[in-house]
Amino acid sequence: MIAAEGILTSHGGKTSHAAVIARGMGAPCVCGVEALKIDAEKKQAIVTGSDLVIREGDVVSIDGTTGIVVFGAVDLVMPEITGDLDTILEWADEFRTLGVRANADNPEDAELSRNFGAAGIGLCRTEHMFLGDRKQIIQSFILHDDELIREKAVNDLFAAQTGDFCGMFKAMDGLPVIVRLLDPPLHEFLESPRALDVEIARMEATGASADAIAEKRDLMEKIDSFAEQNPMLGLRGCRLGIVYPILPVMQVRAIATACAKLKKEGLDPKPEIMIPLVSVAPELEKLRGVAESVIAEVAEAEGVELDIPVGTMIELPRAAVTADEIAKYADFFSFGTNDLTQTTFGFSRDDVEAEFVPQYLVERLLPFNPFATIDPGVAKLVEMGVKLGHEGNPDLVCGVCGEHGGDPDSIQTFNRIGLNYVSCSPYRVPVARLAAAQAAITQK
Ligand code: PEP
Ligand code: MG
Repeated sequence: MIAAEGILTSHGGKTSHAAVIARGMGAPCVCGVEALKIDAEKKQAIVTGSDLVIREGDVVSIDGTTGIVVFGAVDLVMPEITGDLDTILEWADEFRTLGVRANADNPEDAELSRNFGAAGIGLCRTEHMFLGDRKQIIQSFILHDDELIREKAVNDLFAAQTGDFCGMFKAMDGLPVIVRLLDPPLHEFLESPRALDVEIARMEATGASADAIAEKRDLMEKIDSFAEQNPMLGLRGCRLGIVYPILPVMQVRAIATACAKLKKEGLDPKPEIMIPLVSVAPELEKLRGVAESVIAEVAEAEGVELDIPVGTMIELPRAAVTADEIAKYADFFSFGTNDLTQTTFGFSRDDVEAEFVPQYLVERLLPFNPFATIDPGVAKLVEMGVKLGHEGNPDLVCGVCGEHGGDPDSIQTFNRIGLNYVSCSPYRVPVARLAAAQAAITQK
């Protein structure tokens, strides 16, 4: 994706991993073009219902806003940002009461969002820091039962994460940075068992040694054991930290160590720790306890005072309706409306656009895509979560960090509900600033 000028996928939807990352990178992206049958081996894609074949090297133009894909090159116009935009946004800032933060997970994006006027990072998805070369380290943690190998992997991850956080906190010096602990299911870091299956078949056909084949088979079995029917609802979010406590300990230690280091350099880092996918208050109580004891340990070892708030994401209906209980252990709530929409509707966010939602839209069973603009039913859960949350903790800070945080219509709703801020991808920050002002004016 880093190398690509645009992203076009045959599966997925507006809040799929590909769409979320592309939005963060400012790359045009169209997700879920089901008509496209991709043949990776032949390096081509067939458009079903036509005789069009797209081959490696062909030019395709993508409009990420409308979802239109054109075979061939189209004329492009570079957007020109003039000083007038800054003036209008400054006017907007005078009127809006809703804060605007950004979703970013690397120092470059953090800096970009700061330049666009973000007042902090509302969501740093740490799993994005585990990709590239780091993938091997997390794989060795997942796939080995040997404690020594695991410990080495965790130490390597700690060193890498401490550097990551130093970069993020430096870029946002003086502004809050909400770091979310690891969220996705572990199989997302592993190879596909299907690809391994093909490799084994190929090894057998080419007469590879029995030992080499057996080794691959063992690996496949291990990876298979992590497979989930619906990965969005399984061993992910805070459940990961409860099953593998060494992971949150490592991440919190890295956050606290980076914070202590920068404080000693005279900077003003403001990290906050966010625990994802909580459904019952004891999950947060337990993980908050873990975080607090690690922070205290680091503060003592480094001889620095550390005040790092701990909060949670509200992204499950149960969490929203029991928010008073959960808020007793939270300094802040961030509504993860991508998952909250998925779990309220029972629609999978990765399948939705390809499956039936397009037909629902045509037949007017749904007035709009609820993954793009907040649905009134999901908004009720957010409203309930905010109200109950304040009953449990009157000082609770509430924001939203799902993709809806950058959508002007949803911003109207969030402003009415009385959230403290929205958080969106860096490129949507100016739009969110303007939409927040429009919401403040129209609702006055
Ligand atoms: C969400 O669920 O709204 C969210 C921001 O988290 P993610 O998209 O990473 O699941
Ligand atoms: Mg989520």
